[in-house]
Amino acid sequence: MKLTLERRKLKLRHPFLIARAMDNKSTDKEVLLVRVEHGGKVGWGEAAPISYYHQSLDSAEAALRQMGEMLGDDPFALDKILDPIRVKFADQSAAVCALDGALHDLIGKLLGIPVWKLLGLDPSRAPLTSFTIGIDKLDIMAAKVREAAEYPILKIKVGTPNDDEVLTMIRREAPNKTLRVDANCGWTSANVLERCSSVARYKLDLIEQPTPPGDLEGLPAVRAAGIGPLIADESCVGVSDVLKCAEMFDGINIKLSKCGGIRPAIQMIHTARSAGMKVMLGCMVETSVGIAAAAHLGPMVDFIDLDGHLLLANDPFEGLGGANGRLTLNDRPGLGLVER
Ligand code: MG
Repeated sequence: MKLTLERRKLKLRHPFLIARAMDNKSTDKEVLLVRVEHGGKVGWGEAAPISYYHQSLDSAEAALRQMGEMLGDDPFALDKILDPIRVKFADQSAAVCALDGALHDLIGKLLGIPVWKLLGLDPSRAPLTSFTIGIDKLDIMAAKVREAAEYPILKIKVGTPNDDEVLTMIRREAPNKTLRVDANCGWTSANVLERCSSVARYKLDLIEQPTPPGDLEGLPAVRAAGIGPLIADESCVGVSDVLKCAEMFDGINIKLSKCGGIRPAIQMIHTARSAGMKVMLGCMVETSVGIAAAAHLGPMVDFIDLDGHLLLANDPFEGLGGANGRLTLNDRPGLGLVER
């Protein structure tokens, strides 16, 4: 197998701000696409490194170059290829995710079947995706909500002093939509019951990561008040975090870039289900390549937040769709994408 890398510059339609990184006003983002070739087919994967976990494009690229030397010549030997790589590159989950995705795309293309079929899933069971509204000035957020008219589920980034003002505006603009909020660690145990009680008045579908991973003592009171479900994101990185989160949260948000791809994500889903937890699939800002790898697991989960490609002005691939919140798991082999 031959592995090659391409950096791609992405343009966002709008700057995208969240509570724990309020200074990033940029509309540019760069990702790393991975091509794995074998038997005349090309599998695509994507690394969207997570700075919160000290990853960068350079660290992902260095890791993937080394992984390229470890691939062997049997793309179907996923355990044999990926087990040692997951150990060696434990701190480079986005890079591991890119290789895992590329191998799944490649296997699907070699077999002539889509990844969802390879996994035995029923695409009609996948829920709709939410569309995320990042933090911004109130009038800009209102314009974004109007621009997102086609999406029946909105995820609102909260965790600033203006949450009530923002949610009042959102409910005025979108009185009947399903609303989810993500505080991105923006609250503390000292104020989380008050903040969650306040935002819950706007009829929410779920609340994501209200407080930082090291400050969860306030969450049991929120759950005792019947507010929720509370979904762990920053608190739940990989398989080993799932059962720890069961004590404080009602569900987990799995991102392939955090956990290392489709294979560990499936392990996380089964672990969460065994603990009676809800499961959500989330994403970074990434192209259809990264989003599609997660979308193929859509039939296994309760909530989908896979809108990264919808936030882009120049997605280099198409085939995943997303109109009206419905991602398309089509019949094309592998991840089902074509390069534009
Ligand atoms: Mg989140």
